[in-house]
Amino acid sequence: MVSGGVIREVVPAREARNRHPGARHIELAHHALIPGLINLHTHAAMALMRGLADDRALMDWLQNHIWPVESRLVSDAFVHDGTLLACAEMLRGGITCFNDMYFYPGAAARAALEAGVRAALGIIVIEMPSPYAADAQDYLTKGLETRDSLKHEPLLSFCIAPHAPYTVSDKSFERIAMLQGELELPLHIHVHETRDEIGQSLAHHGVRPLARLERLGLVDAALIAVHAVHLTDQEGDLLARKGCHIAHCPSSNLKLASGIGSPARLLGKGVNVALGTDGAASNNRLDVFTEMRLAALLAKGAAGDPTLLPAHTALEMATVRAARALGLEDRVGTLAPGKLADMTAVNLEALELAPCYDPVSHLVYAAGREHVSHVWVNGELLVENGRLTRLDTRELAANASYWQAKIRNRE
Ligand SMILES: [Zn+2]
Repeated sequence: MVSGGVIREVVPAREARNRHPGARHIELAHHALIPGLINLHTHAAMALMRGLADDRALMDWLQNHIWPVESRLVSDAFVHDGTLLACAEMLRGGITCFNDMYFYPGAAARAALEAGVRAALGIIVIEMPSPYAADAQDYLTKGLETRDSLKHEPLLSFCIAPHAPYTVSDKSFERIAMLQGELELPLHIHVHETRDEIGQSLAHHGVRPLARLERLGLVDAALIAVHAVHLTDQEGDLLARKGCHIAHCPSSNLKLASGIGSPARLLGKGVNVALGTDGAASNNRLDVFTEMRLAALLAKGAAGDPTLLPAHTALEMATVRAARALGLEDRVGTLAPGKLADMTAVNLEALELAPCYDPVSHLVYAAGREHVSHVWVNGELLVENGRLTRLDTRELAANASYWQAKIRNRE
């Protein structure tokens, strides 16, 4: 039973009907109703660069393809339109909340509010100038202004999002550490994604990136370490001891050949590991079902142990563990009285899902986002029988074509 955007009761259907005869009943036989999926790491607006430069190494991909397009074309309108496209894709895939890192977070916020989806927006910090900001201080100032103007919005929360150790200076990290103490926001950062990144840090700073962040006072319970593919045992212990979180992005790590990571080992140590899709330019789907399945399969295959990362754990990584990382666990991530009604219904009646012994096994190993039928955020029905209720898909497609032509012309 949901009212005022909040889950009031979780009871059998007949009991609910008897107790609340005047309420609207939505009957979904043969469906699994689960907490809305949470995408713990993405760059939503990069949906406009989906498939633009595939099959390349990370630095070649960034320096020769992604950054040149971004430096010429990224704008408030680009981010708004790209994020709206991503929101439509994510909602249809059962995702009710995403943790974003991109330029113009104010434009991303507008798109999320238009779509009705929950978003954690990154106050991005990077030394590299862009049309959005001139230097690291400018990024911080603009991001904080955006947060000040939007922090009253119930669907929005904020993270400080320094891009990565290799794109942010010690001086900027020191400023961030000071702010961190005041604002108590999660810290959302790419770290230990590739071996090259670690080698570069050893050459320039004399220590591995995580050690550098620790030296700067940034390794604590606020840290959402994105990727964290290459960690020594001691680094895993450090993350566990400090109560850190990891956004594991298996598709992106495979596509850029960054590595496989060891989420099962880290979960075993007590690190809170959740799932992210990364941006559509390096995945190329904003699809948490795929990430659940891949995470579970890779963990088993990489360690030669089929008991690792079972389906229930994968589902936790896509829901409650991600909510915990964002500091939203008291509001979303499970279906329980008092939690906000962010919910996803998955139709398990399809022939390819028959028979069904364990719905959780199906959600991870057999079903996909194409089986999502209904999605609610804050109690509002945003996807009904697979169709978006708020957004116009034809308009979204036309906008995507408009930006595709612009990007092509500038390439
Ligand atoms: Zn990323």
